[in-house]
Amino acid sequence: MYEFRCGSPVCKTHFTAPTEDALMGQVAEHVVVKHKIPAPTKSLVAFVKANCISQVQSTTKAG
Ligand SMILES: [Zn+2]
Repeated sequence: MYEFRCGSPVCKTHFTAPTEDALMGQVAEHVVVKHKIPAPTKSLVAFVKANCISQVQSTTKAG
């Protein structure tokens, strides 16, 4: 799965999604609601992908 950590120093938002597409959808919503950016530029999206998103192992064997 994929993990997003907001790059803003004043924002501690962190969430995960099963796919990168799903995560980007949540990220888009987040920047609109929290950062008042209704239409992120391509460079912002590229920055977020490069710096705020990482793929993580979904090894949840609890239970
Ligand atoms: Zn944020």
